[in-house]
Amino acid sequence: MNILFFGPNGSGKGTQGAIVKEKLKIPHIETGVIFRENISKETELGKMAKAYIDRGELVPDEITIPMVLNRLKEADCINGWLLDGFPRNIIQAVRLNEALTQESIDVDVLIEVILDREIAKKRIMGRRLCVNDNNHPNNINIEAIKPDGDKCRICGGELKARDDDQDEAAIDQRHGIYYDTKNGTIAAVKYFKDLSDRRGIPAIVEVDGKNSVEEVTKELIEKLGNLSLTRLKSGG
Ligand code: AMP
Repeated sequence: MNILFFGPNGSGKGTQGAIVKEKLKIPHIETGVIFRENISKETELGKMAKAYIDRGELVPDEITIPMVLNRLKEADCINGWLLDGFPRNIIQAVRLNEALTQESIDVDVLIEVILDREIAKKRIMGRRLCVNDNNHPNNINIEAIKPDGDKCRICGGELKARDDDQDEAAIDQRHGIYYDTKNGTIAAVKYFKDLSDRRGIPAIVEVDGKNSVEEVTKELIEKLGNLSLTRLKSGG
């Protein structure tokens, strides 16, 4: 199953993505993680991307689009993928759709975690990264995933805050891009929803990001389950 996963920064998208990945046994491809890994390894890609990321701006499409399209061609993507953090603007959406159409690959499902901008901002500022594993969610502003003291609640590893998470101007910049209905991420969501209206795929799954992590997971898993039932019944 090929899935596009949308949600503003701070909506818990990464946490939910890790759960969906486990459930469906497909790779969770997060563009932000790819960039951060390249920055910490000081690769050429990392050096190019860092200044943009620190300012909360998008890394230019000339760098990001080929990086993602190449990643989707890797062997682990053969049985599906969960793409998270891409497309983030209308150009990326169009280019992704063109590249997939050319290879006769469908996007099967579009997941959107819906969350108010102010709540998303508060959550971002509380978010902490585990140095041992990016999929260990910790947030000092969310009771359910509060760190254990100053250590990771899952493995006890060291925690650090992302530089771009503590910078309000950068957060506003990132949200400005996300909530931009004309050219930004919401426009990319709409692009794929319009395709869905016309072609019946991708199936659209919307979840309410205001709820607790467990509630969002429950809603998401239920809706994904219903989807496969509906598809089985309709023979799709
Ligand atoms: P994230 O971890 O998804 O919040 O991404 C962190 C940063 O990586 C973003 O603020 C952008 O600077 C960059 N980035 C991630 N995904 C993309 C994308 N699809 N296009 C351009 N830049 C991106």
